[in-house]
Amino acid sequence: MRVTRTKADLRAALRELGSPDRIVGLVPTMGYLHAGHVSLLEASVERCDISVMSLFVNPTQFGVGEDLENYPRDEARDLAVAEETGVDLVYTPELEEVYPEGFCTYVEVEGITDVLCGAQSSRGRDHFRGVTTVVTKLLNTVKPDLAFFGRKDAQQVIVVERMCRDLDLDVQLVAMPTVREADGLAMSSRNAYLEAADRDRATAISRALSGVERAAAEGTSLKESIQLAYATLAEAGIEPEYLEARDGERLSPSTGFNGRPVLVAVAAPVGSTRLIDNVLIEPQPQTKEV
Ligand code: AMP
Repeated sequence: MRVTRTKADLRAALRELGSPDRIVGLVPTMGYLHAGHVSLLEASVERCDISVMSLFVNPTQFGVGEDLENYPRDEARDLAVAEETGVDLVYTPELEEVYPEGFCTYVEVEGITDVLCGAQSSRGRDHFRGVTTVVTKLLNTVKPDLAFFGRKDAQQVIVVERMCRDLDLDVQLVAMPTVREADGLAMSSRNAYLEAADRDRATAISRALSGVERAAAEGTSLKESIQLAYATLAEAGIEPEYLEARDGERLSPSTGFNGRPVLVAVAAPVGSTRLIDNVLIEPQPQTKEV
């Protein structure tokens, strides 16, 4: 496995490995790898001839007062995990390589970045502006055939898909299922911040979401299912930033199934850690609508 820190070095390494005549996969990450990241890396290794992992804690997607400075980092361990998984190339640039002096060009997706995590009361749309800008830069640098993202960040997948369609970017996105701890907690680099008592309470988030899924399958209305989820969170002392049902593709507000998939998404502070999770519920033919 080769570790590159500049665009020039990365491109040279890709050429040496035989791109563009081979299938290239890209897995963008901010590091502190866990089994969720590894599932993306494994999918790339399985489906592509050359797998590239980017490892870059992207400052433009962090808001003021967010955890940029304290974001967990362990490059040596991440490189060992990537190598063990069969990654061919790691791209881990310095800040100046990605955002050189004078940088002033951003990619912005409208509308679907104003809700959920993009709402003013949450992280705000600048978060997604940071994500779409860095992803565009990574896609332009690596020129992958396939790029792998996790459904754990469901809105991110929808926003990046929209951006690729709207800007005619020639890449196939692969959205991978959320990998969870044995007790249901969605894996996240930020779980490392959770103190023991908060770690226990945090399981209420996945319980609330699987409760919605179960209630919907049993024919409970979406509105009632969401109320049950609120109650599950409240019992654990968790007050969500948002807990919302949205159209699974368009992110418009959803009041019922109406033959379309519904995304139920949560963001909630647990102690000082902000966690997100979601579930995508396929249309339920027998559900009563309100
Ligand atoms: P991050 O390092 O948090 O920016 O995540 C890098 C990629 O890993 C993103 O596409 C995430 O959606 C994905 N990811 C993070 N956590 C999980 C998880 N628990 N299961 C599957 N994918 C994940």
